[in-house]
Amino acid sequence: MNLKEKIVLFKNITIITMNENRDVIEDGIVAFKNNEIIHVGKRDIEQTLISEYGCEIEIIDGEEGILMPGMINCHTHASMVPFRSLADDCKDRLKRYLFPLEQKLVDEKLTYIGAKYAIAEMLLGGVTTFCDMYYFEDEVAKASKELNMRSVLCETVLNFPSPDSKKAYGGLEYSIAFIEKWKNDDLITPGIGPHAPYTNSDEALKEAYEISKKYNVPITMHVAEMDYELSECKEKYNLTAVQYLDKLGILDSNFISAHTVLVDEKDIEILKEKNVGVVHNIGANSKGAKGVMPIVKMREKGINIGLGTDGPMSGNTLDIITQMPQVGKIHKLFNNDRTLLPSIELIEMATIGGAKVLGMDKEVGSIEVGKKADLTLIETYSVNMQPIYDYYAAIVYSANPSNVDTVVVNGKIVVKNKKLISGDFREIRKSIINLKDKIDKVAINL
Ligand SMILES: [Zn+2]
Repeated sequence: MNLKEKIVLFKNITIITMNENRDVIEDGIVAFKNNEIIHVGKRDIEQTLISEYGCEIEIIDGEEGILMPGMINCHTHASMVPFRSLADDCKDRLKRYLFPLEQKLVDEKLTYIGAKYAIAEMLLGGVTTFCDMYYFEDEVAKASKELNMRSVLCETVLNFPSPDSKKAYGGLEYSIAFIEKWKNDDLITPGIGPHAPYTNSDEALKEAYEISKKYNVPITMHVAEMDYELSECKEKYNLTAVQYLDKLGILDSNFISAHTVLVDEKDIEILKEKNVGVVHNIGANSKGAKGVMPIVKMREKGINIGLGTDGPMSGNTLDIITQMPQVGKIHKLFNNDRTLLPSIELIEMATIGGAKVLGMDKEVGSIEVGKKADLTLIETYSVNMQPIYDYYAAIVYSANPSNVDTVVVNGKIVVKNKKLISGDFREIRKSIINLKDKIDKVAINL
């Protein structure tokens, strides 16, 4: 081994590996070099590693915290954060409020400032990868790189002019240039995001799919979320939304289906057969009164499921820790069965499940040698964290984002002692507050 290369070692931790065996290692250590995990195991190897690496080792004392794989937010619109808390209880919010607001206000600057703030919030909440669908994705990529966040970024495609395109479907052209620019980046995975079946034509959806296929990149869409979407598909094609997309021939393993609430047995079969990953956005769906995605049935079929927050104007928060208990509680209540979805299954969706949905499970989603060092340390000294009998339950039902102590993305420490260190949060906060007056003036007239 090259002694000049520094390794970083977490010790005094319990490791929730989320590996194939779902090993939990008490009093363990995890070491990484550059961006790769090189050791996961019991503490007894610590001295060997130290003597091997000598002074080229940085030791982080986890203070009996829980080290877990960095969490994955599989669906959001990060740059919507400047609009958070506007029109929360508005009927038909998307068409009556959100689209007009975006047309009037979204530009490169707002997208960049919003993305920066949202990424800071996600990192501080223990999220190390997010999948985004928005406009000016190049600005989101810039913000993501600056804060050292891993991301899957998909430019929106719409059947009307959008903030970054004077013509309908301008997102198709944007996507090609965007994918070409970022396709070899170590942190950014570019993709394409046709907004929804009801905001795209058959031709545009097929074209978006061809782009995704040509470059072998993710394609993400809001699917089976709206009641009017289902009625339109029924009226025009006598099909459900999922069946319509399947008939177009655009469902495959690159497809990331957000929401997927209004589905029947046949739809679930199709999603499984086509190896489509689905994203459960319980916070946003329950607040928007959209319905409950049938994840228990989907899990039984073996469909890959990840968790998402949706945009911060829909779900308000961007961390995944607070999504997990909502998923557990709502499905237990909805099915009248408290045995459903034990904590380990919720953490699966938040980590390795999400990685599978994004097609990144070879790289991230678990703590294993050879994988990228994307790690989240949850401290256990705060009042809400003790006692702990079940590490999974402690994370799901006791923890909140304020318990996130240290976060590593791609081998770089980005949050330490609960502070963002890959960026200046005071500056980021100031920039977003400076947008408020302008937004307020437009919003008041909608
Ligand atoms: Zn969304």
